[in-house]
Amino acid sequence: DAITVQELANRMAEKGADLVKSLFKMGMAVTVNQTIDQDTAELLVTEFGHNIKRVSESDIDIQTEADVDAPETLEARPPVVTIMGHVDHGKTSLLDAIRGANVQSGEAGGITQHIGAYQVALKDKSKITFLDTPGHEAFTEMRARGADVTDVVVLVVAADDGLKPQTVEAINHTKAAGVPMIVAINKIDKDGARPQRVREELLQHEIVVEELGGDVQDVEVSALKKTNLDGLLDAIALQAEILELKANPNRAAEGAVVEAKLDKGRGPLATVLVQRGTLKVGDVIVVGAVSGKVRAMIDDHGRQVKEAGPSVPVEVLGLGGVPSAGDTLTVVENEARAREVAAYRQGVMDRKRTTSAPVSLENMFASKASTTVEFPLVVKADVQGSAEAIVNALNRISTDEIKVRILHSGVGGITESDVTLASASGAPIIGFNVRPNAKAREIAERNKVEFRYYDVIYHLTDWVREAMAGELGPEI
Ligand code: GDP
Repeated sequence: DAITVQELANRMAEKGADLVKSLFKMGMAVTVNQTIDQDTAELLVTEFGHNIKRVSESDIDIQTEADVDAPETLEARPPVVTIMGHVDHGKTSLLDAIRGANVQSGEAGGITQHIGAYQVALKDKSKITFLDTPGHEAFTEMRARGADVTDVVVLVVAADDGLKPQTVEAINHTKAAGVPMIVAINKIDKDGARPQRVREELLQHEIVVEELGGDVQDVEVSALKKTNLDGLLDAIALQAEILELKANPNRAAEGAVVEAKLDKGRGPLATVLVQRGTLKVGDVIVVGAVSGKVRAMIDDHGRQVKEAGPSVPVEVLGLGGVPSAGDTLTVVENEARAREVAAYRQGVMDRKRTTSAPVSLENMFASKASTTVEFPLVVKADVQGSAEAIVNALNRISTDEIKVRILHSGVGGITESDVTLASASGAPIIGFNVRPNAKAREIAERNKVEFRYYDVIYHLTDWVREAMAGELGPEI
């Protein structure tokens, strides 16, 4: 009663590499040719949103057609936006200004309720969902947990300050996630505002804004004076149109946790962003390793709602415990099944903590399909000159089959932000004359991210070259 990953992938009509990736996230390092047990297979099937029918104890029959949403079932859904940028450049102000302007301009019962995400309505009644936790840490942390909820990133850059280290980090985290970006040049009300300088500085990071003939939208705003907020919303709406975001609202819901906490009076609360289907009061759910039943749902205006469709954020009451941000929500048939899946996921998490293999090159390569393999890396160095020299040297050793992909390079010690980024992409981190801080080390340990330290560039490139040639074992 075991099945190879490839065989299971075939039955599900999914890519073997995607299954391996998923398994890897659960803490199991296997290749497509290895077998997995039935429970793991079932969990994987659920994770991929397929229906499962166990015909006999030894056979797994998967009804693939039930789950891939047919094109005709898809309907347009609002974009989900995360705001990023350097500290003090106005992320929070912008989120508040957008929300405030929207509440004033209409909707009855407009008491804002901070649940971790909110929606605004545009003039044409279309909507945009904003995640209330700005910054790339939360974004990448969620991604590391398997929740790619953000459709569009708004990069806030203060016009009087220009690009700063966290701006660059935000750019790199966004690129690593492959999410399109809109640049909001903020604080244009200030005397020292130099929006054109911001545009020029972005060029150094291969971001060419429309104003300079590129295809990244740039919008000048002032969060303080509430200038041109509509312009920013229109830019997001346009980007969303290009992305043709769609989901099937008429099916069992799936979603991701944006925020969760324990409320003294109401028990565990989780703000969930529905990604497809419609979540309803009474649904039996599994969220991460926690099960429950939707007792009530509260929207971002503090109103009780009975249903929440794609891209709608709601606070869910009725969970048996507090899940984590980035956990996925799945609706299951009944409570017994919910408890079973939750217990299983808990077991996987426990196992992951103790026995999983580190993110090593061997299993990283194993998880990629044949064609061109990307070799992701995060590089931190003590000085700018070294960082640049390393990036250049690494870019030169790419081949047709294997491409070095530098997710982020920067100056300074290895931080938790570097580790979450590396973890989300299964990349090792190279420290050139630098070391991780305590927090980074702790997260790396938890997420099995590998550090490599060098003080000579050619030793570093030698290692990468050898690694790329597949000559290294997992423990080096
Ligand atoms: P965050 O750290 O990126 O969330 O930045 P905040 O939203 O907390 O803003 C940092 C500071 O910049 C605050 O004192 C804001 O009042 C101020 N600020 C934000 N947006 C603007 C703006 O458009 N113009 C001016 N003059 N100040 C702004």
